[in-house]
Amino acid sequence: MLQQVNGHSSGSGAQGGESLREDLQEFLSGEAPLHQLDDLTKVNPVTLETVLRCLQARYAADTFYTNAGCTLVALNPFKPVPQLYSPALMREYHAAPQPQKLKPHIFTVGEQTYRNVKSLIEPVNQSIIVSGESGAGKTWTSRCLMKFYAVVAASPTSQESYKIAERIEQRILNSNPVMEAFGNACTLRNNNSSRFGKFIQLQLNRAQQMTGAAVQTYLLEKTRVACQASSERNFHIFYQICKGASMDERLQWHLPEGAAFFWLPNPERTLEEDCFEVTREAMLHLGIDTPAQNNIFQVLAGLLHLGNVRFAHSEDEAQPCHLTGDAQCENRLPEDPLLETLRIRTIRAGRQQQVFQKPCSQAECDTRRDCVAKLVYARLFDWLVSVINSSICADPASWTTFIGLLDVYGFESFPNNSLEQLCINYANEKLQQHFVAHYLRAQQEEYAVEGLEWSFVNYQDNQTCLDLIEGSPISICSLINEECRLNRPSSAAQLQTRIESALAGSPRLGHNKLSREPSFVVLHYAGPVQYHTAGLVEKNKDPVPPELTRLLQQSQDPLLKVLFPADPEEKAQEEPSGQSRAPVLTVVSKFKASLEQLLQVLHCTTPHYIRCIKPNSQGQAHSFLQEEQGDLLKVPRSRPPAATPLDSLQVLSQLEACGLVETIHISAAGFPIRIPHWNFVERYEVLRRICARTSSGPHSPSPAEGHSERSPCTEAATLQAVLQDILHTLPALTQAAATLG
Ligand code: ADP
Ligand code: MG
Repeated sequence: MLQQVNGHSSGSGAQGGESLREDLQEFLSGEAPLHQLDDLTKVNPVTLETVLRCLQARYAADTFYTNAGCTLVALNPFKPVPQLYSPALMREYHAAPQPQKLKPHIFTVGEQTYRNVKSLIEPVNQSIIVSGESGAGKTWTSRCLMKFYAVVAASPTSQESYKIAERIEQRILNSNPVMEAFGNACTLRNNNSSRFGKFIQLQLNRAQQMTGAAVQTYLLEKTRVACQASSERNFHIFYQICKGASMDERLQWHLPEGAAFFWLPNPERTLEEDCFEVTREAMLHLGIDTPAQNNIFQVLAGLLHLGNVRFAHSEDEAQPCHLTGDAQCENRLPEDPLLETLRIRTIRAGRQQQVFQKPCSQAECDTRRDCVAKLVYARLFDWLVSVINSSICADPASWTTFIGLLDVYGFESFPNNSLEQLCINYANEKLQQHFVAHYLRAQQEEYAVEGLEWSFVNYQDNQTCLDLIEGSPISICSLINEECRLNRPSSAAQLQTRIESALAGSPRLGHNKLSREPSFVVLHYAGPVQYHTAGLVEKNKDPVPPELTRLLQQSQDPLLKVLFPADPEEKAQEEPSGQSRAPVLTVVSKFKASLEQLLQVLHCTTPHYIRCIKPNSQGQAHSFLQEEQGDLLKVPRSRPPAATPLDSLQVLSQLEACGLVETIHISAAGFPIRIPHWNFVERYEVLRRICARTSSGPHSPSPAEGHSERSPCTEAATLQAVLQDILHTLPALTQAAATLG
């Protein structure tokens, strides 16, 4: 019989007569004011415009959460709203008999997942997928949910277990400032933008206590260490060490006061996130003691100095480049060998693998310098994640279920899109497919099984797009990987031609009409994106000259020794493909593998979706696409008028990118109230009898008649008919009740 899908729905679910009465009353009394519509399935008609109006009205009324059928829409308030996240409110949602009857909130989702994992009959792992564009509030939401679980899970059964649970929760919460210091940066869109994706698995025991957690990260934007767009910044931690170090530490880490670093742009901007003490304190709690911290900060200071090393062409081409700028690399690497290795390439050639040395051009020197920085930083980040994991992980025997929180970058489309956007959008396509498969399709199929009259919504299945990106045998990924494997000189234009000719049959390959740059267009579910092919293959290879890795492996620095252990297998992988038979592990292949792993985990959970929306791009409170800009909704999206405020388009495209209207259509067209047939008949037996008398209505069995022999199909159809009858007879019943007083 009909069950709740996802455990929560539009303020409904398997609720009792009270809620049915309210729903029917609302139905009879006409439309509620827009800002009071706590579920977007109730707007009428459901269009981009009406959905936007409703969200606008709610935002103006300081109401930031709205249900959209099976998903929760979260608007970023861009201002502190402490009462909305107080422990008292968390407890209120936790204690509520029906949290879905309270105002829409992330705590409703949190509580629902918490109850679902608790089910004694069939505990099911849960996942919450938080999506949205940069600055929309994903990380904030995940952090709040973690706090929520920490608060509600702190109900001790014994002093001892309480202390353990509390310690674990504290460590889990402490992982946030550390990961944010090393993985977040100030960008044009968000002062505290996460430059990596994160999946955190909160592990619970039978007593509903958190016994541990595990973190998995995706695609750290390591290029940021060596290259920051103007007006953006490097990772927060660099600013924290420069601003927060004591005099002694400055000496120890070789960070003189007021030193200028190329890789530390916009240091004058002081952000809330620059709090070094918070990071250090959290690191201590995670077991990274002061000497280990000093070692980390010293290596980071070394990277800043490395960024100040500049190269100049030598008159004599046979000679290596000159060094200019700050040539004092203070990162405890043997200074001369490092600078020499940056400027001189080692080549192995011939059958005997003879070693030749060749001076690098200035551009090659720059690339090699940046490569060292990216490599060190990425390994440091991964090492930190492993330290965090070992500090918060639980013995597998100590937990039975988990709640997963996924905080990943939303769909991205910039004027210049490259491999990073391809990976991010690929991940979003996968997640969208998961959403469609798990919710939309499940719901439609359920109706078909129940035999309910229902016109099927034509949802956009993005399998064709995934085939184009990752399909076999030929796809965009396979073609880019092939170029890396062949290691042949290939221009950006050639790559474009190869992609366009090999994948010409795909309905999701668009036409590059606008740009003169070599590129290809993918028609994503959230809109077309043009990817430039220049540099794509090189980024995918992400080559590390083996002599640089070898040099780092020879370092005597304790941290670098851990980050670069001598590992023959790893060495083989990093050899350029011409010199090794080992398969090239490209960025795309690694990303694809980690994405598949993530989806496998998600597939065995009940998913819940929170779509974060950024109401304006300035991060201002009380500002949401203005009324007078409403006309813009009528503009064809492919041709925005020159005068269109970018902001407004951005808000609209977010609604489109998360497929909100489509989701609402499905939820609204579906049945928001789901009560098992026998249960319904039991409660509304009186109404059934009246229906039977006032119309030649269908026969419904009384509970005594039992429901077991009837097929679910007939039961559901009967329920549908009874409901329709009730709706028709309700005005007469209300009148009759009024007459009776
Ligand atoms: P994302 O992870 O989606 O890029 P964040 O979660 O970092 O975005 O949010 C960006 C900023 O928006 C935060 O630093 C915070 O200032 C603000 N913000 C987000 N959600 C809320 C909220 N619920 N209440 C108050 N401020 C918020
Ligand atoms: Mg974030």
